[in-house]
Amino acid sequence: MIPLVDLRAQYRGIRREVEPAVRRVLAGGRYTGGPETALFEKEFAAFCGAKHAVTCNSGTSALKLALEALGIGPGDEVIIPAMTFVATAAVILRLGARPVPVDIVPGFHTIDPQAVERKITRRTRALVPVHLYGQAAGMDALASIAHRHGLAVVEDAAQAHGARFRGQRTGTLGDAGCFSFYPSKNLGACGEGGVLVTDRADVAEKTRRARNWGMDENGLPTVPGDNNRLDELQAAILRVKLRHLVSWNRARREIARFYGLRLRGMGLDPPRAALGNFHVYHIYALEVPDRDRVRAGLLGHGVRTGVHYFPAVHLAPPLGGLGFRPGDFPRAERLARREVSLPIYPELGVEGAARVVAALGAVLGRGKG
Ligand SMILES: *Cc1c(COP(=O)(O)O)cnc(C)c1O
Repeated sequence: MIPLVDLRAQYRGIRREVEPAVRRVLAGGRYTGGPETALFEKEFAAFCGAKHAVTCNSGTSALKLALEALGIGPGDEVIIPAMTFVATAAVILRLGARPVPVDIVPGFHTIDPQAVERKITRRTRALVPVHLYGQAAGMDALASIAHRHGLAVVEDAAQAHGARFRGQRTGTLGDAGCFSFYPSKNLGACGEGGVLVTDRADVAEKTRRARNWGMDENGLPTVPGDNNRLDELQAAILRVKLRHLVSWNRARREIARFYGLRLRGMGLDPPRAALGNFHVYHIYALEVPDRDRVRAGLLGHGVRTGVHYFPAVHLAPPLGGLGFRPGDFPRAERLARREVSLPIYPELGVEGAARVVAALGAVLGRGKG
């Protein structure tokens, strides 16, 4: 059976580095707010090319802390893509603000910058582009729209660790960039975790306090806050895994290249990377007719697949009060109906990918491709 992701295989590849790091933390007796967290923040900021990194307990918390630090609250409107994981919209709702979806660019799957401007009102305060599936959104066009209208930009980079837009790493293309360390992400914890990176000292300072009961560096509570911290075990594990991220992303890209060539040969329309984008293929999102039949067929051939995401976010129940209807964002809805996520993880290798392609060829009756 080929799984969608294989975290056991990942662990086998790094256990000789992870286990001493875990033992070091366990024996050291410092389990939160210690040196591993501080070092990981330095190392991740350097990796991104950002001035500051503030770790926290999930990607969702990172988004919430970033938006809060930028002053987003009740009555504000925040523009998001109509195709994303529900967390992007949920944090905006939880802050009392209103998510305003915009349709996506077909093929690339990220928010359509040309459709953004029509959605801007007096209440619009921020854009949250999502670097969906591992590919940066069209950040140059989005940055210039944000600049013209005085909007904050918070990148949802939860799926795009190490991706680049015109050479620059994601997370550094707006006011703040938010990453998730959910275990299956390109860089994942052995548990939960997240981080936000920023060049803005004010955003870094506000989020550092907000994640730690509003305390300043002397432990004095100065503003209302709660506890959103990362722990030392996760930080130590993430420090080990960060050293592998570039080669893991390279392996993902090799698999994607192989898939792309073969699937085009089978007459399919594989996902594309926009010009100037370094795509890190967190998810390999293939559009097929009759998705459910294809998924069942692949399962019959020993290949597990996923769906990312159904329904499109504007039609998800948490947004039910906002009055969206089927047909409002047709490109996102079409993707939600047709997308099947093929297995992609570094340990799959091109050999594993070849088995997936063979299975797909058999299911679609399209030969070897
Ligand atoms: C995973 C993910 C999140 C949430 O991150 P968590 O660490 O699971 O809270 C947010 N947005 C997107 C696009 C994601 O893929």
